[in-house]
Amino acid sequence: MLQNKNCVYRVNGVNMKRTSCEECSGKIVEKKVEFKIYGESLGFFPAEVCTKCGEEIFDEKTSDAIDEVAKKKGLWNLDAHGTVIQVGSSLALVINKKMIDFLKLKKGAQVYMHPENKRRIVIEVPEN
Ligand SMILES: [Zn+2]
Repeated sequence: MLQNKNCVYRVNGVNMKRTSCEECSGKIVEKKVEFKIYGESLGFFPAEVCTKCGEEIFDEKTSDAIDEVAKKKGLWNLDAHGTVIQVGSSLALVINKKMIDFLKLKKGAQVYMHPENKRRIVIEVPEN
């Protein structure tokens, strides 16, 4: 299951119909919410939304529908591991084909990178 900005759970069974939030006891309303992943919209889907903490929960059928749209748009499972290889005295990160296609990245592209901390770097790809 894909992760939205708020916590999203795949709920089994058809009888969700929660009236209060398990997390914060806020009131639950049903509405259509936009599902975004990797900054791309997959469309609007019915969800139970907490009016207090904003938690959005989709039922199993809707979760499957969201997964399908993500697959069709090539936005399925882009998270990946990469290998660091040696290039002369520098190191290079190997990026897989799926990620390259999503980013429209080309050989020789100039990217900008900055560390957030010692365990995380952000790489900005130029606009195409
Ligand atoms: Zn809540």
